[in-house]
Amino acid sequence: MSAESTAPAVTMDAIVALAKRRGFVFQSSEIYGGLNGFFDYGPLGSELKKNIRDCWWNDMVRRRDDVVGIESSIIMHPKVWEASGHVAGFTDPLVDCKVSKQRYRADQLFFSPVVVDGQTVGYVSALESEKTAADLQAAAESFKRKKAIQGALAPVAPRDFTEAKPEEIPLIPSPATGEPGSLTEPRAFNMMFETHVGPMRDSSAVAYLRPETAQGMFVDFKNVVDTGRVKLPFGIAQIGKSFRNEITPRNFIFRSREFEQMEMEYFISEDADWDTCHKEWIEWCRQWLISVGLPETHLSLYAHPKEKLAFYSKGTVDIMFRYPFGVQELWGIAARGNYDLTQHANASGKPMEYFDEASKKKFVPHVIEPAVGVDRIFLAVLCAGYAEEDVKDDKGNVEKRTVLRLSPRIAPVKVAVLPLLKNKDALTARAKELYRKLQRRYAVFYDEAGAIGRRYRRQDEIGTPWCVTIDFETIEKDGTFTLRERDSMTQKRITEADLFALLEAQVF
Ligand code: ATP
Repeated sequence: MSAESTAPAVTMDAIVALAKRRGFVFQSSEIYGGLNGFFDYGPLGSELKKNIRDCWWNDMVRRRDDVVGIESSIIMHPKVWEASGHVAGFTDPLVDCKVSKQRYRADQLFFSPVVVDGQTVGYVSALESEKTAADLQAAAESFKRKKAIQGALAPVAPRDFTEAKPEEIPLIPSPATGEPGSLTEPRAFNMMFETHVGPMRDSSAVAYLRPETAQGMFVDFKNVVDTGRVKLPFGIAQIGKSFRNEITPRNFIFRSREFEQMEMEYFISEDADWDTCHKEWIEWCRQWLISVGLPETHLSLYAHPKEKLAFYSKGTVDIMFRYPFGVQELWGIAARGNYDLTQHANASGKPMEYFDEASKKKFVPHVIEPAVGVDRIFLAVLCAGYAEEDVKDDKGNVEKRTVLRLSPRIAPVKVAVLPLLKNKDALTARAKELYRKLQRRYAVFYDEAGAIGRRYRRQDEIGTPWCVTIDFETIEKDGTFTLRERDSMTQKRITEADLFALLEAQVF
C-alpha cells in the first residue's frame, strides 16, 4: 500500500467533525442546545486527555527529583484572589454593540480608517482572524466602491479597538450591523466566575471559581517546604480545572470557559541566574511537546515585548503552535520574580521566606512558571495528526483514508486486536486471550466486525498506532501475529514477546 496526502491543510471543520463522529469531543449539554464555551470529552477524548495529563505528570513530577505535585481546591479563600491581583485586574476589555447586543473583546476587534487621496473618508472593522488585514482591505475597497468615492485608496492601517481614540469610536462600524455609532467604549470586564459559599447569598459569602491553578502552589508554598523535604531550586506542580468567563469563547476547545491547566512553579534563589533557568524551562517545554508528537515545524517562540509586561515580570515567552486558525499561544513560560509570594505574605501576614542552609540567608524565592492548557495540547495533537490520504491497495485500487497520526504515548487506543475471521473459534479465542493480556497494561480494542481493511481504517481514524491480526499462521504455525503499522501501513510478523517489548519502548 502507498499513501498520498490529498488535503493540503487541515480545516477546523474536519477536526470538529471527526471529534464528534468518533466520540472525542461533544458540545456540553447538547440536547438543550449547548452552552457556549463548555465541552464534554467522550470515550476516546477522555482517554486522550488522560494520556496527555499522565505524560505531563510523569515527566514533570515523577521523573524529576526537583518537582513535587499538589492538588489544591478549586474554590479558595476570596482573599487569595485579592492578593494575587485577580479581583482588581483579571479583566478583558469589553465592547458592546448597542443595536445587535453582540459583545466583543476590544483587543480582538480591529479597525482602520479608509484613506483616499490622503483624506480619511470613513472607517472599516473586522474581527481578529488569520487574515484580519486582508479583511479590512477588502472592506475598505467595498466602502469606497459603495460610496462611489474617486481617488487612490491607501493600504489599511489596522489597530485594535483598545487603541481607538474617543473621537474615532462613534465612526467605527459594528461588525454585527456594518454601521457606525453603536459600539461603546471598552470597559474592564472581570473574567472570574463568582459563587457563594454557605447559606448566605450576600457579599460576605462571595467566592470565585479559580481562573488559574497557580495560586494553589503559592498559597501552599510554606506547607510544602515544611513537609515535602524540598530544597531550592524546586518546583510545585498541579493539574486541574480552571474557569474563565471569556467574552468570546472560540475556536472549538482552544478558548473555552471551563478548561484544564497543567502548571508548575519553579522556585529559585533570589540571586540565581533566572534568565538561564527561564531558557532551560522554555526548552524543556518545547521538547516535551515534541515528545508527545507535535512537529517542531509547527512550534515557534514569542517573547512578550518589555513594555507590555507587568511591572514585576522579568520576561514571558510563549510557545506558539500553528493551528488551522493561525499561530496561537499554547504554553506560557513566565519569570515572575518574587511577586506572588510577597503579595501573599503581605496579605496574610504569614512569612513566605525560605531559609537557605548553605548561605544561612533568608529570602522570598523567585519563580519561573510554565503554564499550559490540556485542551490546547489536545487540539494541537488533533490538528497536527489529522490527514486525509489517497491509498492504493496491492491491486492498484485507490481509496480514501482518514488518519490521525497520534504519538503512541498519547493515542487513546494503543493496539487493536483483530481476529482475521469472526466465525473461526480458534482465531477469536487466541485473539481474546491476547486482548485480555494486553488490557492489563494498555488501552486496547478488540474488533471482529467487518473486512480486515475496514477494521484498519476505523483504527487509523482514531489514531491507533498498531493493529495485530490473529490469522491461520498464528494458530497453525509459529504463533506469530501480523503487526500492521498505522503510518506506513506496512505489515510484518511479530511474536507476543516482541509486541510487549515494542509497547514497553513506545508507550511511556
Ligand atoms: P490567552 O492570551 O490565550 O487568553 P493567557 O495568556 O491568558 O491566554 P495564561 O493565563 O498564561 O493564558 O494561562 C496559561 C495557559 O492556559 C495558556 O497558555 C493556555 O494554554 C491555557 N488557557 C488559558 N485560557 C484558556 C482558555 N480560555 N481555554 C483553554 N485554555 C486556556
